[in-house]
Amino acid sequence: MYGYIRTLKTYIKEFFNQETPKGSRTMPDYYRHALAGSEAILSIYFLMNLFLLHWGTGKWFIMPPALLCGILICLASNGRVNIFFSFYGFAAVILCWTIWYIRTFGWEYGGQHFLVVLLLLQVFNIYEKPWKKMINAMLLLCIRMCLFVYTISHMPVIALNQRESIGFQMFNSLTFYVMLAFCFVIFSSNIQKEELHLLLDNEKLQRQADTDPLTKLPNRRPMMERLQEYSVKYPKDIFSIGIADIDHFKQVNDTYGHACGDYVLQKISEKFLSASHGQYSVCRWGGEEFCFFLPGKNLDEAKDILFDVHLAVGIMNLDYKEETLHITVTIGIAENDFRSSLEELLDEADRKLYMGKINGRNQIVA
Ligand code: GH3
Ligand code: MG
Ligand code: MG
Repeated sequence: MYGYIRTLKTYIKEFFNQETPKGSRTMPDYYRHALAGSEAILSIYFLMNLFLLHWGTGKWFIMPPALLCGILICLASNGRVNIFFSFYGFAAVILCWTIWYIRTFGWEYGGQHFLVVLLLLQVFNIYEKPWKKMINAMLLLCIRMCLFVYTISHMPVIALNQRESIGFQMFNSLTFYVMLAFCFVIFSSNIQKEELHLLLDNEKLQRQADTDPLTKLPNRRPMMERLQEYSVKYPKDIFSIGIADIDHFKQVNDTYGHACGDYVLQKISEKFLSASHGQYSVCRWGGEEFCFFLPGKNLDEAKDILFDVHLAVGIMNLDYKEETLHITVTIGIAENDFRSSLEELLDEADRKLYMGKINGRNQIVA
């Protein structure tokens, strides 16, 4: 409970501390579209009201055609002049209509619903300061309350019979729902679009940060994460770790150039991947070293699997320009003994790799 109150307090604080842009006052496209759509719906509404009110009362009213002109001017100005002209024009038209409609026909026909659309559009205005939004919302609420109180103490100018009143109510409700749904669809799809972009961008950045650009293998960070995750999730499961290092790689660079060294790293990485058959994951540990993670494999099983990998690399013919290179690797393997930490296991694999190097390279030490 206390947690909820604290979260609520944070939200309120964030809302009031929200920054508003001070630069060029151009509204985002989605806002202009929501406003233009609402104005277009309202234009049709006024046009139809011209005839609907005549049908319902037998009279012609000046308000629908006057406000139709007003809203058409707002619609025409949308996107041409400052958006605020269109928005405040829209607000003025809605206020005029609501006040006139409720005074003329009473409360129960739903003329006041249009104030909600106004509330929605002003809340999504990114240039308005939060405290101003609150004041505007309060103002709209006051207008609504005043109109309601007015209808309690004053009879409507025109009383409608049941058939017309149902028609008016349905027409107002329908228009209000269409406007509201339209605004919601535009605003929510825009928010979702932004969120989706953000998520996709984050995923892309994460992928880039986790991937070695040369070999396209994962780098050390995601491998460490995998190892840690595995040992926490399956504390009783066996696994092995292998560290492979290319033999005399410096000579490759020195003899054929750095580009050739890069080519060798790429080809070897491809081989490591194609030889895995889902039995291990491999990463570029750094430089010309690679780390293998073999979940569920004990030392002997890991040795068999990495023996095949070692052999596959050993028989590779790497054609680079005019040359055909033969590369070998030395691999050290350590098995999880349920006592040592990950760092200790990695050190052990490294120690065995070093032993393989001093024993003549091109071998597996397990
Ligand atoms: P050893 O058999 O003892 O492992 O000898 P080595 O020559 O392979 O080992 P050493 O540590 O002396 O040299 C590793 C070389 O790997 C040095 C470094 O320039 C090269 N290297 C590291 N990363 C890259 C890379 O991304 N591209 C290229 N082309 N070379 C790299
Ligand atoms: Mg090395
Ligand atoms: Mg080496």
